[in-house]
Amino acid sequence: MKPTIFITRKLPDELVAPLKEKFTVRMWDSEEVAVTKAVLREEIAQVDALWTMLTDAIDRDMLESATHLKVISNLAVGFNNIDLEAAKEKGIIVTNTPDVLTETTADLAVGLLLATARRFNSAEKDLRQGGWLSWTPMGFTGMDIHGTTVGIIGMGRIGEAVARRAKGFNIRVLYHNRNRKLETEEKYDVEYVELDDLLKQADHVVILVPFTAETKGMIGERELSLMKKTATLISVSRGGIVDEVALYDALKNETIFAAGLDVFETEPIPLRHPLLTLPNVTAVPHIGSASVQTRRTMMKLNVEAITDVLEGREPKNQVN
Ligand code: NAP
Repeated sequence: MKPTIFITRKLPDELVAPLKEKFTVRMWDSEEVAVTKAVLREEIAQVDALWTMLTDAIDRDMLESATHLKVISNLAVGFNNIDLEAAKEKGIIVTNTPDVLTETTADLAVGLLLATARRFNSAEKDLRQGGWLSWTPMGFTGMDIHGTTVGIIGMGRIGEAVARRAKGFNIRVLYHNRNRKLETEEKYDVEYVELDDLLKQADHVVILVPFTAETKGMIGERELSLMKKTATLISVSRGGIVDEVALYDALKNETIFAAGLDVFETEPIPLRHPLLTLPNVTAVPHIGSASVQTRRTMMKLNVEAITDVLEGREPKNQVN
């Protein structure tokens, strides 16, 4: 009998085709609506491979019923939606899609920084609503990004790609990680600082750490209070790293200038969320890696990893 794969979201047929040639493939039939927990649980009990999205919570309880499952391949570089320990205990390999999305996500981070600091969204909204009656001397004035100091929290693959872009804007780059990266400091002319110093000195703060027990709530009331009144906060890695209640207060009270958010504690962010009432928030729906080319390349990595495991080879990008 051929091994069976369950794909938790409707993906383009031509990308799924190579799997169909070799295996039995079942796929959730909606692109917009996530698979239900009940269906996921049922499939996990039966299949040999699972192709997951970052919206699928694959926790210990969910994995309990897995008896044949050999591999979970996640369409993302982040894997905080999967309980790696529980998977390991059951001998299930977990893979992700690093590197191929680095440049695309860095583009989004810099784009979001520009849009936020220069107030693209409120300016465009005003124009569309007929508010552009005349050029005004101080209308929609924002903050420069060129020649400023940017602090990157999480100088990993994407952090480095943002740092490279920042140099084109004549930006001084500070970074904070748990470990210093001397080679990166030399190569990209970036400076290591403690987190508090980064928050105090940066004109723009970009968050690029993974979501872990350690980074959960890393940027709260105290950290936001260290930032400059003119500073922007750009959050591109995962919701839950920034405390949204504290962020709302800081933005509402204008103790920081603005925030650009691609990720949220709850996704999709509820439309009545207080953050969405603020003009100094630029919000986009988790589109960091969302270019046609990159999403397709990410999917090809998932296909390769699933095929490798099901055919007895070691896959690339195993994370557990
Ligand atoms: P990466 O190469 O693993 O980089 C992560 C960096 O964070 C590392 O340099 C790491 O350095 C640092 N870090 C980890 N824990 C830390 C902590 N507790 N305190 C300070 N620094 C810490 O990952 P990447 O490929 O750049 O991706 C980063 C994250 O971006 C992913 O985990 C994912 O969640 C997110 N992402 C989002 C999108 C999107 O669509 N919005 C797209 C792609 C990726 P140390 O180990 O030295 O601390």
